[in-house]
Amino acid sequence: MESTHTQASHIAILPTPGMGHLIPLVEFAKRLLHHHPNSFNITFIIPTDGPPSKAQKSVLDALPSSMNYFFLPEVNLDDVPKGAKIESLISLTVVRSLPSLREVLKSLVESSKLVAFVVDLFGTDAFDVARELNVSPYIFYPSTAMALSLFLYLPKLDEMVTCEYRDHPEPVKIPGCIPIHGKDLLDPVQDRKNDAYKWLLHHAKRYRLAEGILTNSFLELEPGAIEALQAEEPGKPPVYPVGPLVNMGSSGKVDGSECLKWLDEQPHGSVLFVSFGSGGTLSTNQMNELALGLEKSEQRFLWVVRTPNDHVANATYFSVQSEKDPFDFLPKGFLERTKGRGLVLPSWAPQAQVLSHSSTGGFLTHCGWNSILESVVNGVPLIAWPLYAEQKMNAVMLTEDIKVALRPKFNDNGLAGREEIAKVAKALMEGEEGKRLRSHMKNLKDAAARVLSEDGSSTKALSELALKWKNKK
Ligand code: UDP
Repeated sequence: MESTHTQASHIAILPTPGMGHLIPLVEFAKRLLHHHPNSFNITFIIPTDGPPSKAQKSVLDALPSSMNYFFLPEVNLDDVPKGAKIESLISLTVVRSLPSLREVLKSLVESSKLVAFVVDLFGTDAFDVARELNVSPYIFYPSTAMALSLFLYLPKLDEMVTCEYRDHPEPVKIPGCIPIHGKDLLDPVQDRKNDAYKWLLHHAKRYRLAEGILTNSFLELEPGAIEALQAEEPGKPPVYPVGPLVNMGSSGKVDGSECLKWLDEQPHGSVLFVSFGSGGTLSTNQMNELALGLEKSEQRFLWVVRTPNDHVANATYFSVQSEKDPFDFLPKGFLERTKGRGLVLPSWAPQAQVLSHSSTGGFLTHCGWNSILESVVNGVPLIAWPLYAEQKMNAVMLTEDIKVALRPKFNDNGLAGREEIAKVAKALMEGEEGKRLRSHMKNLKDAAARVLSEDGSSTKALSELALKWKNKK
């Protein structure tokens, strides 16, 4: 038991907009307190451009008593051109929140022993405020070690390559990673003239200002990238692989217990869970093909549907809830025809509980990193269907490197057709290939349990950091 006599150190955490940022940061905070009880108080400071979503509130309201949170005043993004990409919107939300952040951090410095300020991948503009107040800045990188390696490499790559990366004839060699074609790199680098790319490069250049970078991954999952990240290099902050930190579904009130009851009634490992994260949306035609493909596959499925969007693939990133009733967009008679074998939920599912349920045997995912890690800790093999952000990179890694996922083929119209979807769903749930992927996943599940055990590598990396923070004067 650690001493409670000295004043607990205080950590401030700034999650930038997006459930995929908030959830792993909350898990990080919980884990820090779990392994170092009574040593830290934690405050989440949340920049936003609108009222909190139901999903955000359910996570925040379930925080333990040694953690608190508050929302910074909403910033106004009305002047931002329509069509601006999420990376720009997220970065601008942070920049416009800096004056209110300064006030909050100042009061924390005056009232407590504030030893560290942790931001996620798009929060580096807040470093200046931390530095002004003499607080050490850190980054919690919520995605792959591969994407982090790219971020650290990007300033160099930007100088070396003059054309669009997707037109570059050679695959990009991110340190420590399998070579990857420019077209598969993360979204915001696909158009170098777009503000989103400029923001990304801006953040990437500022990563070296951090005193340390935590990454939500582990050595057995991404050995090459992690070794490259940990190789000594002047000016590079130390990198702490602390993952997999995932929402285990033990807290937070969520709607959707109906779907858990339904899962209870299904045979072991028989259900394909279909979900595109907090922000993913399909086009109307694609949603139709997916519905008919699931029907044709004759597999059991649990599908989180969103209202389709024909323009962008991340239409609900900031809001999660669909505005229109997504059921109105399902093919005629679909619900009746698949009744009993399939369950369709609007907008949001208790994903962590679904993935840990013994009836779940596969996951068709948009390849958000949290979703992948949640699948890894439960040993559930995947169908990779990347939509936005760094998800194509993740899909390449899952299918070509660690081999735990199948990937449907898209036709000339950019659609995965019903036949293809049915084929892939069957192959994952019933085929020989599915068995192989399941067995690879099982190995990763065991490795994840090991690194998170009392003397596992992720627990040790976290302790190293905790010690550094506790010893801060
Ligand atoms: N999530 C959930 N229910 C849903 C959709 C998403 O609980 O219906 C959670 C999911 O478990 C994960 C996070 O939201 O923890 C999504 O993060 P991810 O990195 O997978 O994707 P993003 O939403 O950031 O694209």
